[in-house]
Amino acid sequence: MAQYLITGANRGLGLEFVRQLLARGDRVIAACRHTARASELNQFSGEYPGRLKVLPLEVADPRSIAELAREVAMLELRIDVLINNAGVLTSGETFGEVEAKALSQAFATNAQGPFLLTQALATQLADKARVVAISSGLGSIERTKRFGTPSYNISKAALNMAVRLLGHALAEREIAVLALSPGWVKTDMGGENADLDVSQSVSNMLKVIDALVFDPEAIGQFLGNGGDPLPW
Ligand code: NDP
Repeated sequence: MAQYLITGANRGLGLEFVRQLLARGDRVIAACRHTARASELNQFSGEYPGRLKVLPLEVADPRSIAELAREVAMLELRIDVLINNAGVLTSGETFGEVEAKALSQAFATNAQGPFLLTQALATQLADKARVVAISSGLGSIERTKRFGTPSYNISKAALNMAVRLLGHALAEREIAVLALSPGWVKTDMGGENADLDVSQSVSNMLKVIDALVFDPEAIGQFLGNGGDPLPW
């Protein structure tokens, strides 16, 4: 039974990670912005007594990250797998009208947050732990062939760099760090025309995460939900 910490755990992919992990017997710290309003998570707490802890986290706010890290340390929780899942996408951005506010919010949530959270929780990570950042094919510079969702794409490319750097920072403790794309998934963000159901995407990703081991030759990888390497 491993201990997972998942951000953005109240809906979408984050909530599905919590659901599947609890169902298979793992322990979960579910972090989300508004714990009182996270009705599904609060219901899971009743269904899986002692295996789910719901804690507040606004990933774009460094003070909130510090508070979460303090709480995790105070409760003496060791984390085997950290899944940086929370993310934001501003749709409808057009060239000429991209706003600093959207760029900053995307960066703070999608890149700065996962980096600072991983740094803040480093002492609580078990040796040989795994750190995953839910990235996106839209963060691949190589794959970018048109102008679209700039705040999101720029922030996910920055996240990919954060993953590579964190991989090196944590290599001494044989902690594997991975940028993982979920595919295009039917969530509030992905929309209903997406390819994959939430449950399929998460079960695919869990297979990749379960198979992840520290490899000094492959620090900070970027993989798709089938475990296939994605171009940076
Ligand atoms: P959703 O929009 O359905 O859910 C986003 C989650 O992130 C919510 O729990 C939301 O919380 C949380 N969140 C957003 N901003 C913050 C913040 N500042 N602090 C804390 N939590 C925050 O998205 P998905 O479930 O689809 O996305 C999950 C991850 O997967 C994201 O990183 C996304 O970029 C990535 N992804 C998704 C794809 C898809 O097709 N769906 C494709 C590629 C990548 P709240 O309810 O409080 O807003």
